[in-house]
Amino acid sequence: MRMGSTTRRDDLPRAGSRGPRESTGAVLRAILDHGPIARSSVARAARLSAASVSGIVGSLVERGLVREVPEAAGPPGVGRPHVPVDIDPETVAVVGAHISVSRVTVALLDLRGRVLAQRQEPHVSRRPADVLGSVPAHVAGLRRDHGRGRAVLGLGLATGGWVDAARGVVVEHPLLGWRAVPAGAVLAEATGLPVRLDTNSRALLKAEQLFGGAARQARGSAVHLFVGNVVDVAFATGGAVHQGPRSAAGAVAHLPVEGCAEPCACGRAGCLQAAVSERTLVRRALAEGLIREPEFRALVDAAERGSGPALALLRERARLVGRAVALLLDLFDPEVLVVAERGADRLPDCLATVRAEAAARSSAGQAAAACVRSTSFGGAVLPTAGGAIALDQVYAAPLA
Ligand SMILES: [Zn+2]
Repeated sequence: MRMGSTTRRDDLPRAGSRGPRESTGAVLRAILDHGPIARSSVARAARLSAASVSGIVGSLVERGLVREVPEAAGPPGVGRPHVPVDIDPETVAVVGAHISVSRVTVALLDLRGRVLAQRQEPHVSRRPADVLGSVPAHVAGLRRDHGRGRAVLGLGLATGGWVDAARGVVVEHPLLGWRAVPAGAVLAEATGLPVRLDTNSRALLKAEQLFGGAARQARGSAVHLFVGNVVDVAFATGGAVHQGPRSAAGAVAHLPVEGCAEPCACGRAGCLQAAVSERTLVRRALAEGLIREPEFRALVDAAERGSGPALALLRERARLVGRAVALLLDLFDPEVLVVAERGADRLPDCLATVRAEAAARSSAGQAAAACVRSTSFGGAVLPTAGGAIALDQVYAAPLA
């Protein structure tokens, strides 16, 4: 406690009033949530005065982020405040990129987070220069073939491992063998676009908050669990996705899970990532003769076609994922917990298994497990992750 000097009111941050940047973001999000919507109603939804909303909407229309909806306009004589406005899905776009252990995905997304077109390419090598070097040609190709003259506002890159979003650096991605890779600066230089990066789960949680099926809950308190070849977690409270002072929040790859003996690259056994990673499942499915190509998709396809052993393998994984989910429910007690896992995305049986295991193992039981849902972006998880990082920036500061 400080002695001898009293804290004065002017020393403290002011409460309540929003700056112009926050107001603009609030208006764009209100239009995203409620559009088509009259300007007068935007003012109520964004809790701003009609006069300031009118000015902001004008700027958003000018930038091609918002458009008037003529067909829904009222009869002649009705004033402009009643002409509905909506998100403009045709004038601007963002690039979403994703780097997985085996391939790079690059996509063009509109302002509603919809994937307009995407390209995927397996890595020729895992060297950062080769992997990152392949991205600009895809960006150029997508803009040429599918851009239709849209202005591209930015590029978001999602990947696994430890990502320092503030510095734009992949601090460590053990499965790729990357350390201290300044991916943000490299891609900004090569594409000329503003670039931001983040982990899979933080990116996808932002996507859930903007466009997801439980966006309202995700803007309150939420947890996101991503399970691919890498496993990571993100959580949000009060709508803000937590990064942590070292940008390391959500690194659960080596969380020990009960009932698993799979050896991990870290030297221990029973780590979550080693147990549930797609590579582990593919290896086992190949050994059991369930699939012919080393692709996780082939295993889910086989289960969907009714292969009992394929479904059993995916259910076993879902049980392990459910144990991790139980722990996350107990830690955070969120309004919603979203799982992005390709088994649970496509097979209702697997999602039910995750929920049942979570209910059986978490302290709050069934009540807590009821908030567990599958990703809102099934089939487009990877391009959406990258795109959401760029779109989160657009919706936070639309005129920046
Ligand atoms: Zn480990």
